[in-house]
Amino acid sequence: MRVEIGLDDTDSADGMCTTYIAHRLVERLLKTGAAEASDYPRLIRLNPNIPWKTRGNGAVTIPVRTRDPNTAFQEACRAVEEYSEAGRGAADPGVVVSTLEQIPKDIKQFAEKALSEVVTRREAVRLMKKYNMQFRGWGTQRGLIGALAAIGSRLEEDRTFELLAFRSQENWGVKKRKIDPISVREMSLKTHPRTFNSFDEEKERVMITPRGPDPVLLGIRGEDPEALLEAYSIVKIGEAVDGHMIFKSNQGTGVHLKPELNPAELKAYRAGHLKCTVSKKPWIERGGHAYFEAENGGHTVTCAAYEPTGGFRKTVLNLIPGDTVEVGGSIRKKSRKHGAAINLEYLRVLELAKDISISNPLCRRCGRRMESQGRGQPFRCSACGFEDSSAEKIRAEQPRAVQKNLYLPPPRAQRHLTKPLQRYQANNRKPMNLIDGWFKPTAIPPLKQAKT
Ligand SMILES: [Zn+2]
Repeated sequence: MRVEIGLDDTDSADGMCTTYIAHRLVERLLKTGAAEASDYPRLIRLNPNIPWKTRGNGAVTIPVRTRDPNTAFQEACRAVEEYSEAGRGAADPGVVVSTLEQIPKDIKQFAEKALSEVVTRREAVRLMKKYNMQFRGWGTQRGLIGALAAIGSRLEEDRTFELLAFRSQENWGVKKRKIDPISVREMSLKTHPRTFNSFDEEKERVMITPRGPDPVLLGIRGEDPEALLEAYSIVKIGEAVDGHMIFKSNQGTGVHLKPELNPAELKAYRAGHLKCTVSKKPWIERGGHAYFEAENGGHTVTCAAYEPTGGFRKTVLNLIPGDTVEVGGSIRKKSRKHGAAINLEYLRVLELAKDISISNPLCRRCGRRMESQGRGQPFRCSACGFEDSSAEKIRAEQPRAVQKNLYLPPPRAQRHLTKPLQRYQANNRKPMNLIDGWFKPTAIPPLKQAKT
């Protein structure tokens, strides 16, 4: 029987991670023979703008084959209780088990909505009851939303993979990961574009390691499991590794920006895209944040590129009124200082307006620039005194510093779901079977010999 076990919201700011619990759960299911893996576990990133999310807002579902879904459910609940921060931190976990042969349309739609909008636990519970799914939530049970959304996200149009390796327990809480940065750069150069966002060349920054106290040692993202294993073998690691697992994921697919935003009603936390015309010269504000105003159907929207987006802001500042653009991003809530703004995740320049500069003519006698003496008056040269009633203002088209192109913030400022530049070429939907090495269990320390 095909079963999926959805998990979410087991992590909190001070430690645990849903992917780690998924790893422990897979290990337990395989070891006890309670189930066998039927596909890669899926790591599903949900709407990244929800303010009450924990770090990455990632949920996990594990597709297995089992004769006994009830045991699978019990094991999942046990893993969550043993490892999660339920009751300790801000975690409100949820576990959902589906035995459905086909995932119904309304569950898929619920999952889609969870990527770009705000969904409620109530909607999740209604669907789970409708389809007789086993579920259990802890605390506020918020985790049920992600757990169900992970089951409903089938990644039919595009998906990527991520290999996550875990740290030995004695290193949890130590924020620095012992990874050789030179080897990460080498790995990135050798395996790109089959892997992506491993190394930020501009800042020479390793991007595969989280910086928190959680059990994740590193995560390598890419297009297929083989590339990930190859990349992983290149990275030099200076601390104990406690197993790894390859996940299928919606990371790097940009799927959260698929809906079209409604310019008449920019709802906070919503994500999507919008075509609009730049209506006001871009400007930069204190803190280094760049903004411009644009117009769509009589509605004005503000678009923002924040300071951490680095060189991306330069592109934004080079826009001029009249440019047609498509922007993708999420809506930042209205504040006392600012109206709602679209926080840009990409900018596609569709049409460039002509940048016309108007200047006074040059003097026919001495070549210097002339001065205007007012409307209807001839231009006058202040250098030689020549007056020229036939001279006219010069209209010149300036070259533009932006092109009709797609622009993204640098990798370090991208979100989990942001589609990296090279992934715009083609979606990846090739089926991929489980390969050897997709899962490695926890390294179990050898038993100490009893003293005789
Ligand atoms: Zn002159």
